Amino acid sequence: MSYEIKTGKEQADPILWTGDYYNEGTGSGDIFDTLKEECGVFGVFGHPEASSMSYYGLHALQHRGEESAGICVADGRDFNYHRGMGLVKEVFDKDKIASLIGDMSIGHVRYSTSGDSRLTNAQPLVFKYRDGDLAIATNGNIVNEPLIRKQLEQNGSIFQTTSDTEVLAHLIARSQKDFVEATKDALRQLVGGFAFLLMTNDKLLVATDSHGLRPLVMGRVGEAYVFASESCALEVIGAKIIRDIEPGEVLVLDKDGLLEDRFTEPKRKALCAMEYIYFARPDSDMNGSNLHSARKRMGSRMAIEAFVDADLVTGVPDSSISAAIGYAEQTGIPYELGLIKNKYTGRTFIQPSQELREQGVKMKLSAVRSVVEGQRVVMIDDSIVRGTTSRRIVNLLREAGAAEVHVRITSPPFKNPCFYGIDTPDRRELIASYQTIEEMCLEINADSLAFLSPDGLITSIGGHNSGDYKGGLCLSCFDNDYPTQVDFGGEEKDGCGC
Ligand code: SF4
Repeated sequence: MSYEIKTGKEQADPILWTGDYYNEGTGSGDIFDTLKEECGVFGVFGHPEASSMSYYGLHALQHRGEESAGICVADGRDFNYHRGMGLVKEVFDKDKIASLIGDMSIGHVRYSTSGDSRLTNAQPLVFKYRDGDLAIATNGNIVNEPLIRKQLEQNGSIFQTTSDTEVLAHLIARSQKDFVEATKDALRQLVGGFAFLLMTNDKLLVATDSHGLRPLVMGRVGEAYVFASESCALEVIGAKIIRDIEPGEVLVLDKDGLLEDRFTEPKRKALCAMEYIYFARPDSDMNGSNLHSARKRMGSRMAIEAFVDADLVTGVPDSSISAAIGYAEQTGIPYELGLIKNKYTGRTFIQPSQELREQGVKMKLSAVRSVVEGQRVVMIDDSIVRGTTSRRIVNLLREAGAAEVHVRITSPPFKNPCFYGIDTPDRRELIASYQTIEEMCLEINADSLAFLSPDGLITSIGGHNSGDYKGGLCLSCFDNDYPTQVDFGGEEKDGCGC
């Protein structure tokens, strides 16, 4: 074994309830039937306030992961780091940030499946290896990770986490080459969708997979370089946005400045379409498209593809509000706040009793009776996963007196699992994989149901202008056409590998 994992000063792992409403239970603990965000990463090179910048950057990326947060800084000699379970503001306070001294840092916010929700998997993972210290923060999933892990274990490696990140560390540590070449060799062995930030005592290395499945953007603050999963996290620290990291690129930052290199040739570009539909913040830009504007165009296109006469349009907060505005503008039907999200649910130690759960504790979402009562409502949402959440929201509107509820989904039917970092249920649980649109409409108790076409989605995002295949987007969860190999003889992994 050529390195050891460092555990550091860490806080206890509290049991938290995520505030899901209508907890009918699926046996999983978290029953809010939506797709789960992956993770968020943030990096700084060459700024004395690296830890403060990371704090604000991670705070802006909080929607990408609420399970744990961590920051590791390097001062040229040593690492200083802190990780904990919970939100960024729960894990860090003023003193902790002040104690993280150094001008280079990487940070991480993590979502995980409940089984993996433990501190040992919180990132950045920090290792001590042959050439010094190594910290890694990841967003995404390595599909062939189980196969590589098995091979490494057969050769004597011992793993302390279930994270993909540790596999990368093992591959680097076993190489006889220098850090940069070892990392490039290791990255070439990985199949999947990933954005990595790696830090040694004197280098920051940034890389994305050969299809650019997971987003990563570079900016500058004065002479310093900053990196983030979304541009909103760079805006918040006053950075100038430079560009998106290209598929297969590896950037190396050290005392000699920035080296723009690649570990492999770029393949078919396939940025996750769900970033545009649902995950990313509306004030972020990706590939030159602002997310709010793209979602408005999705709503507008939806109105052209599946118009229905109604009295008002409402969007399921927060991700569908932009699309609802687009639908309303296109049709002239007024946009109204028919659904309100309680912004302050978050996590709570007070879990509802079974009795309260059965009564349907509405922690997260409410319908506004005075708005929807007696009205024909067009309800815009971004996706239908199992169908349970859609039915609950339609029923919320009906209980509040809506005369009709017409559901319009600003993505094609979600039929296939994601292998690139999004935690999706098993294919058999995805309602669109086994029901027709008419059956789904009945299941969710809507008066009508329609989905945006793949072409409408690509056009709304602006993909056709790029000239890339499928607009440079991954649409695999809709069309089952995965950009990478996903079958490794039963040794593959889907979901989130962070
Ligand atoms: S399969 Fe779907 S969720 Fe996964 S990367 Fe592709 S578009 Fe995104």
